[in-house]
Amino acid sequence: MKDFKRYLITAALPYANGPVHIGHLAGVYIPADIYVRYLRLNDKDVVFVCGSDEHGVPITIKAKKEGISPQEVVDRYHNIIKKSFADFGITFDNYSRTSSKLHHEVSSDFFRELNKKGGFIEKTTEQYFDVKSNQFLADRYITGTCPRCGNENAYGDQCEKCGSTLSPTELINPKSAISGEIPVMKETTHWYLPLDKHEAFLKQWILEENKHWKTNVYGQCKSWLDQGLQPRAVSRDLDWGVPVPVEGAAGKVLYVWFDAPIGYISSTREIRPDWELYWKNEDTRLLHFIGKDNIVFHCIVFPAMLKAHGGYILPENVPANEFLNLEGNKISTSRNWAVWLHEYLEDFKDMQDTLRYVLTANAPETKDNDFSWKDFQARNNNELVAIYGNFVNRVLVLTSKYYEGIVPAPGILEDIDKALLDEIGNAKKLIEENLEVFRFRDALKEAMNLARAGNKYLTETEPWKQVKTNPARVETIIHVCLQVTANLAILFEPFLPFTSQKLRQFMNLPQVKWSAAGDKSIVKAGHKVSEPSLLFRKVEDDEVQKQVDKLHASQASTEIKTEVTTQKQEVEFDDFTKMDIRVATILHAELVPKTTKLMKLTLDTGIDQRTVVSGIAEHYKPGDVIGKQVCLLANLKPRPLKGIESKGMILMAQDSDGKLVFISPEAKTINGSEIR
Ligand SMILES: [Zn+2]
Repeated sequence: MKDFKRYLITAALPYANGPVHIGHLAGVYIPADIYVRYLRLNDKDVVFVCGSDEHGVPITIKAKKEGISPQEVVDRYHNIIKKSFADFGITFDNYSRTSSKLHHEVSSDFFRELNKKGGFIEKTTEQYFDVKSNQFLADRYITGTCPRCGNENAYGDQCEKCGSTLSPTELINPKSAISGEIPVMKETTHWYLPLDKHEAFLKQWILEENKHWKTNVYGQCKSWLDQGLQPRAVSRDLDWGVPVPVEGAAGKVLYVWFDAPIGYISSTREIRPDWELYWKNEDTRLLHFIGKDNIVFHCIVFPAMLKAHGGYILPENVPANEFLNLEGNKISTSRNWAVWLHEYLEDFKDMQDTLRYVLTANAPETKDNDFSWKDFQARNNNELVAIYGNFVNRVLVLTSKYYEGIVPAPGILEDIDKALLDEIGNAKKLIEENLEVFRFRDALKEAMNLARAGNKYLTETEPWKQVKTNPARVETIIHVCLQVTANLAILFEPFLPFTSQKLRQFMNLPQVKWSAAGDKSIVKAGHKVSEPSLLFRKVEDDEVQKQVDKLHASQASTEIKTEVTTQKQEVEFDDFTKMDIRVATILHAELVPKTTKLMKLTLDTGIDQRTVVSGIAEHYKPGDVIGKQVCLLANLKPRPLKGIESKGMILMAQDSDGKLVFISPEAKTINGSEIR
């Protein structure tokens, strides 16, 4: 690899409409922080920037819902997020925000320059417009049925159920998320980044010149490039964001995904007058730490923007992680299926490093991974406590007990002593090799292996048995162990900074550079160490049970609060009475062949026996529904479904995840009873 003179490290800008959870930490911020701490310990010239991403539709929707301004929303979450990062020791040089004045200037300038250079195409198209609220419906302001999976609550930019990227015009039965109105089409003009024009360059740069990127990142880029790139709109009709800095563009702002990555530049400019050295000099290594959902923006869109602007360097690597799941389910903010950082610290005070350790040891580096509280407890108790903590504690307690804390001088080293001391250098080398290629799990494992080797050495040499009979030998053993202990403080420093600080205090050692690791006489004979307290505490069964219970309880309490679609237009009572809804009993049920969703039902409606085809096969088995009383819209015009004439529609309740349940009379009632 090229010998870079300086490093610019960015971590994905968290979106300021909620706090941060363990998935964010595991995917982006811990790996970035480990890498940055490692660089700093190596005396590298490094700038590490991040900030809150504060524009875009989800923030204005949240503001509207809560009856506050978008600024109030982002102020609240910016501060919570910033504090969480500080609490967990994420050492940004700057944590900025995209609502800042400087960022507005920087992103406006960027747009102007691109516009001047002919970097955009202007297109007038028809887009959905909500007449009632007098507003164009971009992104999440419009909902409808996903054309790919049938989810009825897909957004204009994405279906959260199947993960498809959508445009509003693809939605079936589109509806305004503001008023519930059916939108009309209206002409509007926007600026587009012609990604198709950058395709040849991106193919060469990514597919040929960046084969060293992680396979998950490279693969996703390749699949985008193989599909062919399309022009992408970089502006929106909204009143929250960076105004499009062009005359006649009133009411238009930069698309949040255009201005957000420029936030890395603004964040650097905010603290470094010499920011151009980091952004515009080929001797700088630019790395973007992100989650997999941001790959396309950091590997394709942002590089295309930087290239079109000119003068900027491109990322040398984009070490994106996959997703972390929680207790077997996808982490979800809206369903409150998450471990929030600020809440974790309330229950596990001063245990940041335990979470940093577990999330690194189990990081979703190449595939999605699962976090469970049982695994959290096991890794804490069986690894941090039983291996690292136990070794350090035994060494320091013995030093204190035998030598009143004074480091003894070594005698002649035996092979077993030399072998352990050699392990220090080996561990250091393996950690370095893994960190250089962003394999944080493996790097951490090597550090733990050194502590493991120390424990094994103590067990084999048994100083407590020899202290009376062979005191000189024990002096050597303890001396060797203290060298390992001091080295562990350095080698674990990027991963577990709070623990290393504590251990250095026990050892009465200053913080030293990475290069000092591997030294076999790092603590000299005669140096005084302190009586230790425990480095890690055990996590008890009831503590993790409490967390699991809390997770399920908080999810239950948010179930009723999950996103509910807006109310439909008012109707007259007559409209309702036109519908003939009856109680009926299901007599027979069978799956419709060659479909996954449909079930053919025979119903006793009190009026007749009839066939109804219902889309419930993913939610019920035929055997479960026979004998059930349900409500039937009886006078719905018959329609053929898969060649079967369906006479009516069974009423179901559907939640925002698409789950269906029957609407049944509360007590058994006569078939044919009218619903009114
Ligand atoms: Zn879908």
